[in-house]
Amino acid sequence: MAKLPTQLLAIIFFIVLVLYSCPARSQEVEDESEFEYHENHGKGPSKWGELHPNWTSCGNGRMQSPIDMSNERVQIVSHLGRLKRSYRPANSTLKNRGHDMMLSWEGEEAGAIEINGTVYVLQQCHWHSPSEHTINGRRYDLELHLVHVSADGKIAVIGIMYKIGRPDSFLSSLVEHLTAITDITEGEKVVGMINPKDIKIGSRKYYRYIGSLTIPPCTENVIWSIVRKVRTVTREQVRLLRVAVHDSSDTNARPLQAINQRSVQLFRPADDEEN
Ligand SMILES: [Zn+2]
Repeated sequence: MAKLPTQLLAIIFFIVLVLYSCPARSQEVEDESEFEYHENHGKGPSKWGELHPNWTSCGNGRMQSPIDMSNERVQIVSHLGRLKRSYRPANSTLKNRGHDMMLSWEGEEAGAIEINGTVYVLQQCHWHSPSEHTINGRRYDLELHLVHVSADGKIAVIGIMYKIGRPDSFLSSLVEHLTAITDITEGEKVVGMINPKDIKIGSRKYYRYIGSLTIPPCTENVIWSIVRKVRTVTREQVRLLRVAVHDSSDTNARPLQAINQRSVQLFRPADDEEN
């Protein structure tokens, strides 16, 4: 008789554990209609922290993103190690979130990155135009975010910036799918197998700092790795991403946030040649 309550307790304990360790709350919102990028509707970036009880970090957080990475505050280091990406092809879905296009991969199939011994599984990528982070005050034309989450809900994002130039091959491969859900808010399209390895980095140098998600809930303690090399994209590709969302806004870049004494490191391998 004593066995049953023990099992029951174990089940309850397990359910509670799952509920409390569920990382879903701290991840990026999927319906972006509750906030805006322009201030004139009362839902702009300066008000995000007041719009929802779970979004207070957007207003009073001390480690918010994006930031400017200026030479004078960047410390060059060689101990961080290369970005360890073990990506593989997986089923993906393209979604119009309202302010951006998001490509998400199923389950844990698309692989992961490893930082300081912790594995962060790749969940999704999305684009901001113009770029959210700046280098020495310069804003670029586009920024891609690869969002990874660890088993205990910690977040690590890789950021890649682009300026106008030659086409980006990864975006070229998505054109048809992007066009298919243009103007359809909440529109979704199964894209099929996409290999995140096809998102080119092309450099071993990257900036590292601790920040936040740049959209609500603006969750903090996000490990940022921003690739130093600025890649290229065509004007048409940037336009397609914006037009596809069609949210009547010409931007989905959050304004720069205060550094608040945070350190920014630039990883450069000791045996650095060109990149
Ligand atoms: Zn983002």
